[in-house]
Amino acid sequence: MSVTTGCAKKEKTDLLKEVKSRGKIIVGVKYDAKPFGFIDQDEKIKGFDVDLCKELAKRILGDENAIEYQQVTSSNRIFAVTSGTVDLIAATTSITPKRAQIINFSSPYYIAGQAIMVPHGSPVKSINDLDGKKIIVVLGSTSEINIRQLFPKAKILGFRTYTDAFSALRNGRGDALTTDDTIIYGFIAENPGYIMLKDRITREPYGIGFKKGQEVESFVETVNFVLQELQEDGTLAMLEDKWLGDLKTVHGEKLAKVKVNENKS
Ligand code: GLU
Repeated sequence: MSVTTGCAKKEKTDLLKEVKSRGKIIVGVKYDAKPFGFIDQDEKIKGFDVDLCKELAKRILGDENAIEYQQVTSSNRIFAVTSGTVDLIAATTSITPKRAQIINFSSPYYIAGQAIMVPHGSPVKSINDLDGKKIIVVLGSTSEINIRQLFPKAKILGFRTYTDAFSALRNGRGDALTTDDTIIYGFIAENPGYIMLKDRITREPYGIGFKKGQEVESFVETVNFVLQELQEDGTLAMLEDKWLGDLKTVHGEKLAKVKVNENKS
């Protein structure tokens, strides 16, 4: 018979082994960030990030449905990872130096850009018109940090979800909404009364997030290996085409000549 003492060190199980023996990956995705993670009319979870998770499950566990989905928001996704509630987040999360101090990131799988959405006919024609305006953001996003830094005098209205942020814009509570072009594509595709300005404030490279620690190393390595495969066999390009289609060419983009200190994000 063995006796355990109160100070016995608990061995942390290797996450890859745990995922394999559990037979599914627990993923954190957005539920309201179309076209990356959203609940469709048939009440199924869909999007670029969701398809990405399916590819991981297919290539790591041999079954694209071997996934448990958990909803995350921009403000709770980092905690979802560090607390171990999910194995990973695939949730439009930009890789930033500050976040990388708290969580592990995969290699980037998509490059977005921070953009601005306004109602059609708005006097805001470029980002230079934003000073002194009311700007809507989602709390916990890089867009929030960047815009506060760029326009310290602007009135920032923060919301927890994209659904709430867009309703606020629709109800005239703010002059503009700022987030990644990817998410704005989703809104303007369904709401013809809104446009996206051509300026992009920053480059936002999306990464899959994991907790830090030795026990996740082999899992992160495996995910990076799969991402490399998805890049090489054209799957990532296919997903971009499937979910963003020709929206990118229709709406165009140019990197704005403004500087944000990306180390602060
Ligand atoms: N990609 C940005 C971020 O990671 C903005 C989109 C989001 O809220 O997820 O914060």
